[in-house]
Amino acid sequence: MNIPRTSFPRVVVIGGGFAGISLIKSLKNCELQVVLIDKNNYHTFQPLLYQVATGGLEPDSIAFPLRKVIKDIPNFYFRLADVLKIDSLKCEVETTIGNLKYDYLVIATGSNTNFFGNKNIEKFSMSMKDVPQSLNLRSLILENFEDALLTSNFEERNSLMNFVIVGGGPTGVELAGALAEMKKAILPKDYPDLDIRQMQINIVQGGDRLLKTMSLKASEKSEDFLIDLGVNIWKNVHVLDYDGKIVKTSTDLTFNASTVIWAAGVNGAKVDGLESDCIVERADRFKVNEYNLVKGYENIFAIGDVACMELLIFPLGHPMMAQPAIQQGKHLATNIIAKITNNPMKPFKYKDKGSMATIGRNKAVVDLKNWKFQGVFAWFVWMFVHLFSLIGFRNKAVVFFNWVYNYIRFDRETRLIIRPYKHKNKESF
Ligand SMILES: Cc1cc2nc3c(=O)[nH]c(=O)nc-3n(C[C@H](O)[C@H](O)[C@H](O)COP(=O)(O)OP(=O)(O)OC[C@H]3O[C@@H](n4cnc5c(N)ncnc54)[C@H](O)[C@@H]3O)c2cc1C
Repeated sequence: MNIPRTSFPRVVVIGGGFAGISLIKSLKNCELQVVLIDKNNYHTFQPLLYQVATGGLEPDSIAFPLRKVIKDIPNFYFRLADVLKIDSLKCEVETTIGNLKYDYLVIATGSNTNFFGNKNIEKFSMSMKDVPQSLNLRSLILENFEDALLTSNFEERNSLMNFVIVGGGPTGVELAGALAEMKKAILPKDYPDLDIRQMQINIVQGGDRLLKTMSLKASEKSEDFLIDLGVNIWKNVHVLDYDGKIVKTSTDLTFNASTVIWAAGVNGAKVDGLESDCIVERADRFKVNEYNLVKGYENIFAIGDVACMELLIFPLGHPMMAQPAIQQGKHLATNIIAKITNNPMKPFKYKDKGSMATIGRNKAVVDLKNWKFQGVFAWFVWMFVHLFSLIGFRNKAVVFFNWVYNYIRFDRETRLIIRPYKHKNKESF
């Protein structure tokens, strides 16, 4: 891997997501050698992926080069590689570009889409976990309309214009809102010879309310906003199967849809090699103690989505969201320094800064600890928080410009099929 051994302890960090980056930034100026390994050479700001998928933002504006994160920091290295396995006996990680020894290992690999073992759904539905997947979705949405324009088969056109979003969490709700905005402001102008009223946006939620991790008021308001935008909400319905054409559910309800977007859950992106008893099986997350040490190991830590710190107040671990990842990364930096300097480590304490979701133009719901609000002001708060959280000045500036432009012009300029997507179910028509 062409990384010299120095007298400094070597910390290998797998994953340059929210957790990995926040750790690395907090470790600069320390007497350490830090090696960041990621399968992509960029960090992805996942909360805005849905805007890439719906033509609101360029993919580049929500990605940030990882080499820039470590730029000018002596003894910090980046390697572009997929980590395949951990050998804890040899204190080594096995990667697609070779093996690397570590003194301390930090696993910050985030999460994967959870299809709950359903191979059909995995094969035929669309996910939105990374930039390439969002670009696939963007292409597919637009290709559907191009195809709908050409077909004289009513059923086929219906299917092409029928969108089923599975999962009523923030991702599902935000995507449904953005699609509804497209239906209202963009598609009728782009496809004047197509009856856009035929387009259906369905959100299918297993539970009895949307945004179930937020307040009741946020759930109710988000439902109102979506209904106003013409989205069909199906609650207490579980999607059981999808063969590329028909969505089967736990009720009599079925959908004839050529696009199903799966936003119904994630599990940890665990790396192979560690003992099985350090893994929470149902979630594929590493069990960690309050210092983020993986159960049974003294020099392997896990942070962010892939870490499960089971506490009384968080029996299933912290929510798989950006804030716990950022806070754990920052906190672990102080604990690694403490460990190296033989000082006591401090337990991690999560500060809940609240949660929010946007549901199209001028509409959002925000839950803070002592204040819950919805509507236009919430939308401005949502925009400010997301803009502020983006990494890099250029990204902040580009996103801000795009949002202002889109707002004033009622537009989404990046509705482009740059890289056509061949849907696995296309042959079925
Ligand atoms: C569509 C979507 C919307 C979201 N919206 C919100 C939101 O509004 N608010 C919020 O708080 N949270 C949101 N989240 C969740 C939030 O993005 C995650 O909780 C957060 O990214 C977790 O940070 P992390 O560092 O643990 O993992 P990630 O940010 O996922 O980073 C993991 C990194 O590890 C790398 N990696 C993985 N496996 C390997 C491997 N084997 N080898 C090398 N590299 C590897 C990946 O390439 C990636 O760079 C959203 C997530 C998605 C998918």
